[in-house]
Amino acid sequence: MISVIEPATGEEMAQVHRAGTEDVDKAVAAAKAAFPAWRAVAPAERANLMHAMADALSNRASDLAETEARNAGKPISDAEGEIGMVVECFRYYAGAPERLLGKTIPVAGGVDMTFREPLGVVGLIVPWNFPLVIASWKVAPALAAGNTVVLKPAELTPLTALEMEKILLEAGLPEGVFNVVAGPGSVCGQRLVEHPDVAKVAFTGSTEIGRGIAEAAASTIKRVTLELGGKSANLVFADADVSAAAAAAPFAVFANAGQDCCARSRILVEAPVMDDFLSELEKTVRGMVVGDPLDRATQMGPLISSDHRESVAGFIEDESKIAFQGDCPDGPGFWFPPTVLAPMSNDDMASRDEIFGPVVCVIPFGDEEEAVRLANDTVYGLSGSIWTTNGAKALRVARGIDTGVLSINSNSSVRVSTPFGGFKQSGVGRELGPDALEHYTEVKNVFYSTEVG
Ligand code: NAP
Ligand code: MG
Repeated sequence: MISVIEPATGEEMAQVHRAGTEDVDKAVAAAKAAFPAWRAVAPAERANLMHAMADALSNRASDLAETEARNAGKPISDAEGEIGMVVECFRYYAGAPERLLGKTIPVAGGVDMTFREPLGVVGLIVPWNFPLVIASWKVAPALAAGNTVVLKPAELTPLTALEMEKILLEAGLPEGVFNVVAGPGSVCGQRLVEHPDVAKVAFTGSTEIGRGIAEAAASTIKRVTLELGGKSANLVFADADVSAAAAAAPFAVFANAGQDCCARSRILVEAPVMDDFLSELEKTVRGMVVGDPLDRATQMGPLISSDHRESVAGFIEDESKIAFQGDCPDGPGFWFPPTVLAPMSNDDMASRDEIFGPVVCVIPFGDEEEAVRLANDTVYGLSGSIWTTNGAKALRVARGIDTGVLSINSNSSVRVSTPFGGFKQSGVGRELGPDALEHYTEVKNVFYSTEVG
């Protein structure tokens, strides 16, 4: 059995069956058997079913949010927002089955046309930081495009995925179309990646595991999309609204206790406004409410596990670099205070590695050219923010940064209708928006001769 732990207390909150390779094989066989009938469902009917699944998830939103808040240790208001996005994601992709358009292409001697065909069985592997919402970014477009699915949640946070399996079946999804296997990544994830009947793997997680997945998928030439780590930059120029930037910056990195691939964990500040920025930042960080995830006033919860807390603490090599910290409860639970390291160099270990915890490095820069160079001086390229009141500069810098998702005078990274994904070692492919559908379909080209008959 898997003993599911509540990070705010360190206590067990549930036990679930620990799946093994035989469960993966059974799930893949069920998904394979369900595929011919599922791909043949009429587009309008599949769209209706997507809406029915959205309704069913929406009806269960408050208990799904509570489970997620307890199991992932995230503030209840954040968990509610995430479950809201799960529902929105199913509704958005309900528009897809009737809009998977092909092309006609002018050629000699006949008619040439393209179709977007589903891939077959797709394997989806997701992490513990945003368990159900990241699953929905994959499940909804995969089903809408006519694929059948095997989902492997993280072993630390399997509860909402298992619940979703029941909810979708009750909403009318045929048996075998959507299957959840909750078990260790090195066993169940690995088997999914190697399974010859799985056409594609969509993975969200660390760059290290993603690299192994790309290698293992090569033997069966599986399609692979990867959403991996990040070390994103938040650029604050001297002409920015510095108070607004400083008030927003903590939530761009300490939200979800920093366990966010989009975390803006490097704040690059133009030297003349460094002191003003830090003093404004300090007010916000010291005022952050860190505590019980189920308390509505809470802004930040605990880390996911005791091991993870140790790993986060290990990144603070030099305590004299701590400019200031917020408060957090003492144990039990895996607490870590919001921590600001300043001034830092972009070459320090804490500025280079993805810490995945509530630790931010504040790094000064001299001019626009240096800001872009430092922002790009990382193996990652997932998100980022630019704070300036000069529109031309904002767009120049945005075009100069090698990253998949940027916001100007804002922290926002994710909307269901816009593409999300990384440059460089932050990944391959895009989720959300229309772009995701390209990764759940193959293009088929058909030529019909008009010269015969
Ligand atoms: P992880 O250790 O890479 O695990 C992610 C998933 O992969 C889990 O379900 C895990 O299973 C499974 N897994 C582990 N070993 C595997 C293997 N050999 N084969 C197949 N699957 C395997 O990542 P994490 O620690 O859960 O999450 C943190 C990382 O995710 C961070 O690096 C973060 O940046 C990244 N992330 C990226 C995005 C994005 O969209 N770019 C979003 C969120 C998180 P078990 O844990 O059950 O063993
Ligand atoms: Mg892990």
